[in-house]
Amino acid sequence: EGVHASSTRGQAFRVYRPTLSDYILEMPRGAQVIYPKDIGPILMMADIGPGMKVFESGVGSGALSMGMLRAGATIVGYEIREDFAARAQKNVSKFLGASALERYDVQIRDSYEEIEERGVDRVVLDLPEPWNVVPHLPSVLRAGGIFLSYSPSITQVTQVRTVLNRTGFSELTTTEVLNRSWHIDGKAVRPDHRMVAHTGFLTTARLLNS
Ligand code: SAH
Repeated sequence: EGVHASSTRGQAFRVYRPTLSDYILEMPRGAQVIYPKDIGPILMMADIGPGMKVFESGVGSGALSMGMLRAGATIVGYEIREDFAARAQKNVSKFLGASALERYDVQIRDSYEEIEERGVDRVVLDLPEPWNVVPHLPSVLRAGGIFLSYSPSITQVTQVRTVLNRTGFSELTTTEVLNRSWHIDGKAVRPDHRMVAHTGFLTTARLLNS
């Protein structure tokens, strides 16, 4: 690692191991992934750490799962698409090793219908209609537990917040993460011309013991 190499055709390469972020951007996908720029903040905002029991839905390609697993969480994930669930488990095992699967229980289930888990510390959602999950949460999430939902559209945010407010949640926050890289070359020091303008909104809340 960290060496120069050249191909048989004389092409020059610099060799590094991929980071988790590199892997997420290049790995095979079924569903659209949450990007590293949001995964980092999600780990802090949902306070994900070793030993935390996390309920995640949907699992998609497993990008967000990989961030949370590497932070030490134990995940139960509900995903309706069997092919996506299989892809997510493959991605996790390839980058984090097969032992990470011991903390990653993916079930083919519809999280709008019913959630069997109890005593969960964190609920992390990336779903088209997260408000359908919220009414189940008072028996799933422990009091004081943290809810986080990622949604591309602000109309999804207002709808999920309405349901959170009437389900015993408080401390609601909604945040957007903007990354602006800079071009730094001698005296030319300025923001890059282009940036990713939008990915998703992050909404958090905490469950009150009502
Ligand atoms: N956060 C994931 C991407 C999730 S994409 C990642 O970073 O890779 C959204 C996923 O939700 C899709 O895989 C979709 O199949 C799943 N999904 C949609 N509705 C669902 C439901 N009712 N129950 C469980 N999963 C659902």
